[in-house]
This record gives sequence, structure tokens and C-alpha cells, in this order.
Amino acid sequence: MEVSNRLKKIPPYVFAQIDQKRQELVAKGIDVINLGIGDPDGPTPKHIVESAKNALDNPVNHHYPPFGGMPEYKEAISNWFNDRFKVKLNPKTQITSLIGSKEGLHNTIMAYIDSGDINLIPDPAYPVYRTSTILAGGEPYFMNLNEENDFLPDLNAIPKDVLAKAKLMLLNYPNNPTAAVANLDFFERVIHLAKKHSILVAHDLAYSEMTFDNYVAPSILEVPGAIDTAIELHSLSKTFNMTGWRIGFVVGNENSVKAVASLKSNVDTDIFKVVQLAAINALTGPMTHIQECNDLYQARRDLAITELQNLGWPKIKPNKATFYMWLKVPPHMTSQDFCTKMLEEAHIVVPPGTAYGPNGEGYFRISLCVGEKRLKEAFDRMKSKNIVFGPSTVVSHK
Ligand SMILES: *Cc1c(COP(=O)(O)O)cnc(C)c1O
Repeated sequence: MEVSNRLKKIPPYVFAQIDQKRQELVAKGIDVINLGIGDPDGPTPKHIVESAKNALDNPVNHHYPPFGGMPEYKEAISNWFNDRFKVKLNPKTQITSLIGSKEGLHNTIMAYIDSGDINLIPDPAYPVYRTSTILAGGEPYFMNLNEENDFLPDLNAIPKDVLAKAKLMLLNYPNNPTAAVANLDFFERVIHLAKKHSILVAHDLAYSEMTFDNYVAPSILEVPGAIDTAIELHSLSKTFNMTGWRIGFVVGNENSVKAVASLKSNVDTDIFKVVQLAAINALTGPMTHIQECNDLYQARRDLAITELQNLGWPKIKPNKATFYMWLKVPPHMTSQDFCTKMLEEAHIVVPPGTAYGPNGEGYFRISLCVGEKRLKEAFDRMKSKNIVFGPSTVVSHK
């Protein structure tokens, strides 16, 4: 049976492909270092796991959860949000639960993008922005993120006719894959533009707590009036080492939150209550692990900067947030060639910049989700295979 045209239009999920290659090497007995995927290597904090174990024993929690999230979950989100960003949200109308922000992003796009509608998305970006837009029949308009603009889109460069047709704009700061951050001044300009052109802004804030060197990431909803035209997607995945639990939430504009919840209620039946109860514990419990994890990521970041500069990389500016580093590939190589070389010769998985969009050409990303020893081993392997930033890498292995 033929699959739908919709499905034919999108490539296989890029990380599923990369992982298949990794598994092929592992099956041959090769020790592969995975600097590919952004999945915290630490466990979920004990108190969160314990609360889930207790909740699991109570049969009340074995039934269908309420649509949109348990009221206690939304109350906990509202309190956390006010403590963290000084923004008051009505838990009944301005918050709805998500099965992780990946799901929320897809359903936000499905709720707003019709055939032919324009979605303004960054390039490079988390792949779901682009693929879900295509699944919805819409047209992605790429806002290039370049180093000379600190990886912020140039809002003035978006053509007038594109703005007139655009319904949605997706943003993500702290950013995956570039690790860039945005300040409130930038968000203010975004909100101003969005109001002028009746565009809904969906801000993906998956890395709100993963910050270093005393940097604190703002919420776009801190901009006065942002709630008129913006929603923000949050995830417990990265903040609480809970990627496998699948839980997040979307907050902000009442009509938009309602639209996403309405679409979702037709597609899924919310989140296992046990997971929601654990999430409540995460949001209301001790947060000491956040600093501990950030200290680990920061130390890995500093190690990687030193090691890469020793391998010839030009001066690397320490990223203020996320466990990613967005790095230039050596001159005269494509992103794909470099990443293939890394995998085949050094047995290190790193995604090419182009996995995040055409404008990612010339870059690759590393994730700092392995311990320092393993990370050091990766750079030692690069050195022994002469994978350095310089002319020596021009000679192809083929
Ligand atoms: C990890 C990640 C997500 C997905 O988070 P889940 O809540 O686990 O679905 C969303 N957006 C970005 C930018 C991410 O890096």
C-alpha cells in the first residue's frame, strides 16, 4: 500500500537515520562515542522517581487522565512560572499539558497552519518545526540564523509579502542547535512585529534552566502584552532529566492554548496520571540537581573548548546555555563529509549542521551528554585520526 503524499514529502527523522548507522557499527563490535543526541546522561532525581512509584500503587491513577492536564498539575505549573519568571498565568485557561514539547510543537503547527500558509521558522532549527509544517501542507519560510547576528533572526530581512501571509513564527532560545541565547529586548521586537502582522509566536523554551555563568534565560511572556500574541512550550525533559517520561506544557494566549488543547483532545488522551504526579513533584520539589547538572555540562563545555582549540579550531566563545556546541567544520569540507569521517574513522557520532536546515552547512553539533573521560577520549580519537581544523583534513579518506 502506498503511503500518503504527506508522508512522502518528509524525509525519515534525521536522528533515527543517524542512530541506525551507529547501531550498525555497534553490532560489529565497534565502540562508538555518541555525541549526537541531546538526552541528559544523569538519572531523574530520586524524589521524582519515588513519587511516581507511590502514585503507581494507587488504582485511582490507572484510569484515563482528564483532558488538558490534571488541575493540580496546572496549578503547580502556574506557581512555578510565577516564581521563575514573575508572570501570572490562569491555570484553567492559559495552561495545557503536553506529551513533551515535540508533540506540542507538532500540534501547535497543525492547529494553525493550513495548506499554503507560511510558518516562519529558524534555519537551522529543531527538525520538527520544518517537518510538521510540511505535514500540515504549509510552507516554511526560513529565517537564517548566522553567527554575525549572534544566531538571532534578522527580523527586518523578512519580506513584507511573507509577513502578510505568515500565521506563525517559531523561536527557540536558549537555542538548539546553535546554543545561542536571546534577551528580552529581542523578544520585545518579535512581539511588536507579531502584533503588527497578526502572527502567533510559539516560543520553544525547552532549555530554560540549562544555563551557565550566571546567565538566566527569560520567558517571552515577560514582555508586556506578549500574551496577546504568543504561547510558550515548556518541557520537563531537559530540566529534570525526564526525557523518557514524556511530559511538558504550553502556556500563554488563551485562545491558542485552547486551540492546541482542542486539537490534542481529538488525537491523544493526555498523560498517565502517575507521570503528571511525578511532574508536580518535580516542579514543587527541591531544585538542587539543576545547578549540579549545569556544573557538569559547564565543565564538559570548558573541556571541549580547550580540546578543540588544541585541535586547531579557531577561538570558541563559551555558550551561555544548553548542552550543545555549534562548531565550524574544517575548511573545504561539507558538514556531511566531516560527520561521515568522524563516524567512520573516529567512531564518533555528531550530526551535520545540515540536519537542522540548509543554513547549517559548514557546521556540526556536539552534545555534552557524556562524562568528561569519555568526552576526552573523543578528542583523543580525533587527534589520533588527524581530524583537526586545518588543511590536513582536506585529504579525503576515500
Ligand atoms: C529536546 C527538545 C524538544 C523536545 O522536548 P520533549 O519535551 O522531550 O519533546 C523540543 N525542542 C527542542 C529545541 C529540543 O531540543
